[in-house]
Amino acid sequence: MSEIRKHYFLEDYCIVAADRGKRPSDFSSSPEVQSAISCVFCAGEEDKTPPAQAVYKNGHVLRDSKEELIRDWQVRCIPNLYPALSPKGIDAPYESGYGFHEVIIETPHHNKKLTDFTAEEMDLLMEAYRDRVMHYWAEPKIKFVSLFKNWGKQAGASLEHTHSQLIALPLTPPSLKRELDVIHTQHKCPYCSIVQSESQNERSVYEDAHFIAFAPYFSKVPFEIWFLPKAHIGHLGAMSDEVLHSMGAAIRHVLSRLEKVLVSPAYNYMFFQLLQDDAYHLNIRLQPVTSKMAGFEKNTDIFINTMPPEKAAEYLNNGISGQTVH
Ligand SMILES: [Zn+2]
Ligand SMILES: [Zn+2]
Repeated sequence: MSEIRKHYFLEDYCIVAADRGKRPSDFSSSPEVQSAISCVFCAGEEDKTPPAQAVYKNGHVLRDSKEELIRDWQVRCIPNLYPALSPKGIDAPYESGYGFHEVIIETPHHNKKLTDFTAEEMDLLMEAYRDRVMHYWAEPKIKFVSLFKNWGKQAGASLEHTHSQLIALPLTPPSLKRELDVIHTQHKCPYCSIVQSESQNERSVYEDAHFIAFAPYFSKVPFEIWFLPKAHIGHLGAMSDEVLHSMGAAIRHVLSRLEKVLVSPAYNYMFFQLLQDDAYHLNIRLQPVTSKMAGFEKNTDIFINTMPPEKAAEYLNNGISGQTVH
């Protein structure tokens, strides 16, 4: 049976095609492996990248100088060597491609994945996310800071050493504007309503005092997961350490389950947040990469998802491995 599902509050649709009876093993054909031993993001290779703008080391946030590159770091933030946008040209932000593009190297160790991180390492990464996003949001003419992670070749990562990226833009993405327009017509924040409706139901995969994670009713791709703070929080800068650390715990928990069920899948996660409008409710969307966008999706912007979110949540909660299910 197929079902056309409408987004929680937007005029958006996806097709959940449950009758194909796919198992997690059908989505985990090519696990992402780390083949190299080291790279320019590794500890000891600091001189092979542009100097770092922020270096997290033993409770301090430092910067590389021309004279000295900081060694023995925990998280290192560097300008992207091939930036999509660059800070030159603030007077003509569109024409000159004004903006910032940063790489957040999450660990000095080449073969470490987020699922190998300790709780403390994850806490620090979340703190770095908050600092760097707020740092760029304070720059003149910056309207949006895109924070995202591509993990695995199939998800668009060009280097296998685990890292996140941040692109600061002189404009608000139209998709977020569209969301805001709808949110402004509602008397209650729709994301706050989603927190209520999606916690402790058949799609729920994680919950603690501050955060929930769930396979959304409106799931565009198999094993899509959304993370929402329970309180109405608009952006990372408004998040206390406690909530921030809950967020890290939620992400780490879900990634470990995904790794088990889909066997090292490629994935993207993206932060949706706004500084300039309190009506928005921060949310993070994680999408494993299990198939390519094809003609129908490009034609209609309607995705066909062959793994119902209720089923995906069940697999994740039971930790059923994609390798043993047939
Ligand atoms: Zn490396
Ligand atoms: Zn809200």
